[in-house]
Amino acid sequence: MFNWLFDYQKRYLKKIKPIIEKINSLEAKFEKLSNLEIKDTTSKFKERIANGESLDDLLPEIFALVRESSKRTLGQRHFDVQMIAGVAMHQGKIAQMLTGEGKTLAATLPAFLNCLTGKGVHIVTVNDYLAQRDAVWMGQIYDALGAKVACLVHEAAFLYDPKYQKERLEELDKERDLLGGFKVIKSFLKPVSRKEAYRADIIYGTNHEFGFDYLREHMVYDLNQEIQRDLYFAIIDEIDSILIDEARTPLIITQPDVKSSKYYQEFAKIVAYLKEDQDYEIDEKLRSVSITPKGLRKVEKMLGVDNLYSFKNFHLVHYLDEALRAYALFKKDRDYVVKNNEVIIVDEFTGRLMYGRRFSGGLHQAIEAKEGLVPKAEAKILGTITLQNYFKKYQKLAGMTGTAIQAAEEFDKIYNLDVICIPPNKPMIRVDLPDLVFLTKEIKFKKIVEKIKECFEKGQPVLVGTRSIEVNEHLSWLLSQSGIPHQVLNAKNHEKEGAIIAQAGKKGAITVATNMAGRGVDIILGGNPPDPKEAEEIKKLGGLFVLGTERHESRRIDDQLRGRSGRQGDPGTTQFYLSLEDDLLRIFGGEKIKNLVKKLNLPEEEPISSRFITKVIEEAQKKVEGMNFDIRKHTLEYDQVLELQREAFYKKRKEILKETNFFEFLEKIIKKISQNLESYFPSKETLTNFLVNLGIEEKGNNNLKGFILEFFEKKFQSIEDINQKIKIISLSILDFLWSKHLEDLEALKESVRIRAYGAKDPLSEYKIEAKKLWQGFFDNFEFLLFQAFFGLKENDTEIFTETKNSPQISYQPKGKKKIGRNDPCPCGSGKKYKHCCGRNEA
Ligand code: ADP
Ligand code: MG
Repeated sequence: MFNWLFDYQKRYLKKIKPIIEKINSLEAKFEKLSNLEIKDTTSKFKERIANGESLDDLLPEIFALVRESSKRTLGQRHFDVQMIAGVAMHQGKIAQMLTGEGKTLAATLPAFLNCLTGKGVHIVTVNDYLAQRDAVWMGQIYDALGAKVACLVHEAAFLYDPKYQKERLEELDKERDLLGGFKVIKSFLKPVSRKEAYRADIIYGTNHEFGFDYLREHMVYDLNQEIQRDLYFAIIDEIDSILIDEARTPLIITQPDVKSSKYYQEFAKIVAYLKEDQDYEIDEKLRSVSITPKGLRKVEKMLGVDNLYSFKNFHLVHYLDEALRAYALFKKDRDYVVKNNEVIIVDEFTGRLMYGRRFSGGLHQAIEAKEGLVPKAEAKILGTITLQNYFKKYQKLAGMTGTAIQAAEEFDKIYNLDVICIPPNKPMIRVDLPDLVFLTKEIKFKKIVEKIKECFEKGQPVLVGTRSIEVNEHLSWLLSQSGIPHQVLNAKNHEKEGAIIAQAGKKGAITVATNMAGRGVDIILGGNPPDPKEAEEIKKLGGLFVLGTERHESRRIDDQLRGRSGRQGDPGTTQFYLSLEDDLLRIFGGEKIKNLVKKLNLPEEEPISSRFITKVIEEAQKKVEGMNFDIRKHTLEYDQVLELQREAFYKKRKEILKETNFFEFLEKIIKKISQNLESYFPSKETLTNFLVNLGIEEKGNNNLKGFILEFFEKKFQSIEDINQKIKIISLSILDFLWSKHLEDLEALKESVRIRAYGAKDPLSEYKIEAKKLWQGFFDNFEFLLFQAFFGLKENDTEIFTETKNSPQISYQPKGKKKIGRNDPCPCGSGKKYKHCCGRNEA
C-alpha cells in the first residue's frame, strides 16, 4: 500500500548511513576523554557555533559525545537506529519508532545538538509526570555534558540538579534505574521560577504548559513578566497523540465574568428612565443609538458617579451602551422572542427562530436583563490558539511516536512533516492474533475473563486495554468476582499510573488500563528494575499478553495498545475480543453483519472469525478517522482567520510593552483624531461636551487641533508617572478590545454555522465577516486611549490596582471611522489600506 513511501524510506536511510558511520568512527577517541573534558562540551561548542560553524557540520561529533555521556551516566549506549532517529529529528522529521525502542534516549541527540545555538529546545511530553521523569532521567546525560535541563508542570517549574537533595543520592545508588520511584525523581528537581526554567538549554513539558505560557506571555503588563523565549525547536514525543488526538480543541484562557450579570440588570433598570430625543438619539440608518450629554448626566446621577467616561468608570460605559441598544433598538416579538425563560433571536430575513444562537458583545445579556431574566454569566476569553497554530510558530518541529505512518498524510498536509520509519534495533517477533468476535457483550466479557484466568494461572502477565473508564471498572468487578487479583488504571494519576504500569510485566501481573493510562512508560518483562530470572521465565510463557476489549475508532490507538507488547525483540501476543454489540460494529456494521450471522447460524458462544467483519471494522475506522480529520482541518481553517489578527494584535501589544516614552506615541494618535474629530465622536453633542470639559470653546475655532495638542502637552508634563500610567491604560484597553473581539468571533462562528446562508460556504462567510469585525480594531483602541488620556486625573492611582485583576474598559465608538488610504490596513495584512480592504473605496 505504501510503496512510494517504502522507497522514500529506503533512500533516506541509505543517505544518512555515512553520517552514522562517521559518528561511530569517533567513539574510540571520545572514550578517552575525561569527565571534566566532557563537561566542557556545552560551552565549547556553543562558542564554535557562535563563531559560525553549522549544526550539520558538528552533528557527528555532538552525537558521539552525547552517546559517550549516556554510556558514562546511564550505562546505555545509543543504538545505531537511535542515531538514525536523532538525525531525522534534527532534520525536522517525525521518527516512527516502535514502543520500547528508546525514543526518550534518541531525543537527547537532536535536543542537545540544537541547544548549542543558545536557544532553548522544548521537548513536549504527554503528561506532567513524564516531563519530570524525562528531565531527571535524561538530565544526567545533559548535565554531564554541561547543559542545563528544566521541566515545566502545572503551576510549577524545576531545574534538574543532581545535588538538590544529597540524602537521596544514596537511594539512587541502591536503585540504579530512576524509573523505579517518583519520590527519587522529585529529589533531583529544584523548584525554580518559570522564567528561570525557560532559560535552561533543554526544557521538558506538556503541550498545555508550553501553549498556555505562550498565551500568557501576551497578557503581561511588564516586560519583566515575560518568561518564554523565542520558539525555536520543539521535539514532540508521542506526536500523533498531541498533534492529532488532542488537536480538536484549542487552548483557551478564560476569566469568569461574574460581576457582569449584576451590571446588566442594574443598567436595564436605569435606561428605562431615559427618553428618546432628549436623553438618547436613534440613527435609523445606522441602526445605532447614542446618549446625549443630558442623558449622560441623568445616568451619572442615578449611578452616583461624577464622570462615566473617566478611566475608572470606563467599564460601565459598555453596560450602558448595550442596555441602551437593547432598550431602544431591539423589540420583543420582532427581533427576538422570549420562550421558556430564554431570549431567542428571530432571523431578520427568514423570521425563523434561531435556537441556541446569541447576540454578541453583551447585547444578549442586556436583552435578558431587559426582559427580567437573569443574564447568563459568560467566561470572558482572554486568549486562544489551536495546538496546530501554536506548534507552527516554532522555527523547527520534530517528533517521535510508534504510530505516525497511519497519519502520514495529515502530518504532511498540515505540518509539512515527513515520517521516517526507523527499523527496530532487534527484529519484532510479537504475534498479533486475529480478532475474536462474539454475539453479545456479555459473552465477550465472559470469554475475556476466562482468557485472563488462563494466563494468570500460567503466570503470563496480561495488559487489558479498555476504551472507557466504565468498561474498565466493569471488567475489574468481573475479575474480582472470579477472584483474580489485578491492578486498575484509568488515567487519573499519572505518577501512580507510571509506577503501576512499569510493573505490569511481572510474573502473573494482571493490569486493566484505559488506552491513555501509562502511555510513555515502558513495560519491562520481569518488572522494573527487572529480575533477569523472572524475565526469562516470562519469555518462555510467551511474554506480555495484550488483550483489547474493543476496537477504538482510530486504528492508531489500537496499534498503540498492541505496541505495549514485544518491546526490543521480546516475545509477546496481542488479541482483540469484540462483540457485535460494540459501538463501532453496531453503528457501522448494522444489518449486514446481523444477516451474515443469521446465515452462519453458529452456536451462541462460538466466536465469529470472518474476513468480512475485519473489513467492516477497518472501513469504519477509516470513515471515523476521515471525519475527525475534517473536524481538525475545520478548526484550523477557522483559526487561520484569527491567526493574522492575533499576530497584528500581539505585535502592537509588544510595541507598547517595550515603549518607555509615550509622548510621541500619544501625540501621533491625538493629531490623527483631532484632525477628524466628527468622525470619531458618536454625535455632535458628545463632541461639544468633550471640548467644553477641556475648556475649549468650539465655535468659530479653526485651530481646534492646535488647542487640543497644546492641552495634551501640558497635561502630559503635569501628570506624575505618566508613561507607566499610559502603558497600563493602553494595554488594558487593547486587552479589553481583544477579549471582546474573540467573543465576537465565537458568536460569529456559531452564527455562520447555524444560519442557513443559502448556498454560501460558512467558512468563506466567516472570513468576510471576521475581517469586517477586525476593521477599526486599532482605531477603536486609539480613540479609547484618547478619551482615557483626557479623562485622566493628576493623581489617579487606582489604575495600577484595578487593571491588574480585570481588563475592564469597554466602549465602542459609534459612527464611521475613517481609515487613511495610506494607513496600514486594519485587517492586519501589513499592506496599505488602499491596496487591501480599501481597494474599492474612492
Ligand atoms: P519508547 O519511548 O520508545 O517506548 P523508552 O524511551 O521508554 O521507549 O525506552 C524503553 C526502554 O528501553 C527503557 O527502559 C530504556 O532504558 C531502554 N533503552 C532505550 N535505549 C536503550 C539503549 N540504547 N540501551 C539500553 N537500553 C535502552
Ligand atoms: Mg516513550
